[in-house]
Amino acid sequence: MHYFKYKKGELCCEDVPIAEIAGATGTPVYVYSYKTLERHFNVFDDAFKGTPHITCYSCKANSNLAVLRIMGRLGGGTDIVSGGELHRALQAGIPPRKIVFSGVGKTEDEIRSAVKTGILMINVESGDELAVIRKVAGKLKTRVPLSVRVNPQIDAKTHPYITTGLKKNKFGVLWDDAHTLYNQMGEDPYLDPVGISSHIGSQILELGPFVEAVRSLKSMALQLRAEGIPLRCMDIGGGLGITYRDELPPEPKAYGKAIENELKGTDLTVILEPGRVLVGNSGILATRLLYRKNGPEKSFYIVDGAMNDLLRPALYDAYHEIIPVNEKPGKRLKADIVGPICESGDFFAKDREMADLEPGELIAILGAGAYGFSMSSNYNSRRRAAEVLVKDKEFFVIRKRETFKDLIRGESIPSFLEV
Ligand code: PLP
Repeated sequence: MHYFKYKKGELCCEDVPIAEIAGATGTPVYVYSYKTLERHFNVFDDAFKGTPHITCYSCKANSNLAVLRIMGRLGGGTDIVSGGELHRALQAGIPPRKIVFSGVGKTEDEIRSAVKTGILMINVESGDELAVIRKVAGKLKTRVPLSVRVNPQIDAKTHPYITTGLKKNKFGVLWDDAHTLYNQMGEDPYLDPVGISSHIGSQILELGPFVEAVRSLKSMALQLRAEGIPLRCMDIGGGLGITYRDELPPEPKAYGKAIENELKGTDLTVILEPGRVLVGNSGILATRLLYRKNGPEKSFYIVDGAMNDLLRPALYDAYHEIIPVNEKPGKRLKADIVGPICESGDFFAKDREMADLEPGELIAILGAGAYGFSMSSNYNSRRRAAEVLVKDKEFFVIRKRETFKDLIRGESIPSFLEV
């Protein structure tokens, strides 16, 4: 469900034609729909109304300040994985007590900032990390709320790059090690074990793996409580999938109900870390056709967006629906839709059946709101795209396209090379 629809043959975001935005900002440009973001947050959050919970939007999916502000206004918190994301969450006005900090490689500085900020909890991912937290907490004489990220060894049946809950993955710790970490926390006045957490992967299309993970987390939480460790929270991570092509992910309502059933009677507050499901279908990447090219074996549509703007097809061979901004019935042809970057991996689609378009026409890559701009880079010295938020009939530039000055900011030529 999203608000990108053709109106009189023109693709619009809510009530604004994409062509109007592209004309004002240039291309490539990310366009997000406020109404879609709002709807997705509310549908997801309402699905858990039977369970005490906090929806901590996983901002790695799309960390634009305006998007974070929307999530915060709707009552959400944030799941962060770096000092940079902490900074963004605070700048966007997210209350510290709704921020959870995950990630296998938090630095001492990042841990210190999180402790000073007074966030909801840090999800500990190793014994070495706990030692650093202990040191920081002792120095700051601050009691730090913690949870251990357990690796429940569950196959989320998704792409190997976004599976995180298997024995071979770098994330979390196995239950025996988690148990040891909880016991170590119990011995330190500054370490406060408040929760248990896991995140088994992303773009998960079945409820079974979630239920299995929650069931195993619940038995661990109950054991810890029986041993005198009074956990209050269970962080079940993110991972709910979305439709990119014809996938049928579980409805948030069914997900919420399944978790509610598993946790009935435990009085644990559930922390949720959804990313993709909130923002994925709330955004598109609009790009312009530069050239058509017929090779000996294939035809190409060369557009002005590239893998540096939207990496998912190159990284995961991910599918995105691609449509012309001006509806074009009639002749269709098969083409690879590629960008200008000097890599054969720089493609948005292979052998895709598309309308017969002329150079200069606009194309929309759908489902680009999650892991789109946030994964973008400056490869080939390309300036990162502009981002626009649409609300009803208005649009707002929420990130300007980078300038050439931005591209070289912070670089310098050492004195021995000066002319
Ligand atoms: N939480 C953690 C710890 C993650 O690593 C991720 C994604 O990788 C998420 C939440 C968000 O996942 P998704 O966007 O699939 O909901």
